[in-house]
Amino acid sequence: MEGKLLVISGLSAAGKGTIAKELVDRFDNFVLSVSATTREKRGNEVDGKDYFFISKEKFDEMISNDEFLEYAKYVNNYYGTPKKYVEDMIKNGKNVILEIEMQGALQVKKIYDKAVLVFFLPKDAKTQRERLISRKRETLEQIEERIRQAIVDAEYAIHYDYVLVNENIDDSIKDMQEIVDGKYDKYKNKKSLLILEQIVKDIKGE
Ligand code: 5GP
Repeated sequence: MEGKLLVISGLSAAGKGTIAKELVDRFDNFVLSVSATTREKRGNEVDGKDYFFISKEKFDEMISNDEFLEYAKYVNNYYGTPKKYVEDMIKNGKNVILEIEMQGALQVKKIYDKAVLVFFLPKDAKTQRERLISRKRETLEQIEERIRQAIVDAEYAIHYDYVLVNENIDDSIKDMQEIVDGKYDKYKNKKSLLILEQIVKDIKGE
């Protein structure tokens, strides 16, 4: 049986990276696609594991050779999903996770309508800010940029199949399993969308 293509996006610091990693660590039938990016490597990131860190020239070459399933520009850098790995794994029955931003996610849905799109939220704006600060990955200026980006990102949530609030990792993993098994109650999205509305209001200071 073919595996599923799971596209995970969400607000910055929603914890989607951790969820993707946990799914892969806990279950044999989940694999993570490694994206290519023109962004600078951060401290503890590993080339070929976290990303394929490549130049803009190489990125353009991969676009010309039709090697990407999708690609997008996000906060001044390019990111793309190499196509071959995803196709091979799905054929082998693995559920492939793409942790990508929204423009890319919608591109994927257009070309592969069986893709399942999941949008993650932190539980509130305060939690998001605290996570961004405590993970010490970005400068304060970059953190403010990512928080403002959330206002734009939020607009995309309604196009996703599922909107989940990441309250804690175990519940989110359970939600993801239910989604893969087709057992998750989609109507819970409504509550999540109200939480998203509040997060955006708080960021805007309303
Ligand atoms: P970061 O720089 O924090 O690693 O990633 C920034 C954003 O780019 C995140 O929202 C991440 O999900 C997204 N991203 C990572 N890889 C890809 C990709 O291959 N395609 C697209 N469209 N977005 C990606």
